[in-house]
Amino acid sequence: MGRLEAIVKTRCPRCRKGKMFKNSSYDLGGFSKMYKTCEVCQVDFEPEPGFYVGAMYFSYGINTALMIGLGVVSYAIWGFDSLLKTMAIVLTPVILLVPLSFRLSRALMLHLFGGIRFNREL
Ligand SMILES: [Zn+2]
Repeated sequence: MGRLEAIVKTRCPRCRKGKMFKNSSYDLGGFSKMYKTCEVCQVDFEPEPGFYVGAMYFSYGINTALMIGLGVVSYAIWGFDSLLKTMAIVLTPVILLVPLSFRLSRALMLHLFGGIRFNREL
């Protein structure tokens, strides 16, 4: 599995096999629950306390890009005929995709700044 695939599938950065999250993205009560360590290679998923605070910036970037994209598409199709309609078109998908952007942000944070190197022997 390549690095990008491992990030999208929220797999361990070291072995790219173990899952980072315990539950499915669709589990509204538990989508954010992470394993403390990798089930396959035992690498620690929290390199330091508060490590995932930085994931907020990834989340901000993902959501901003999504809102701008939806805003442009909405404007191209309907123009700005109604502020409420535009807000609904832009915000509804962003809210529905919160579990995915949350998990993707954490995976990006761990893969890019976790200081964990991929080991293909595992
Ligand atoms: Zn692992």
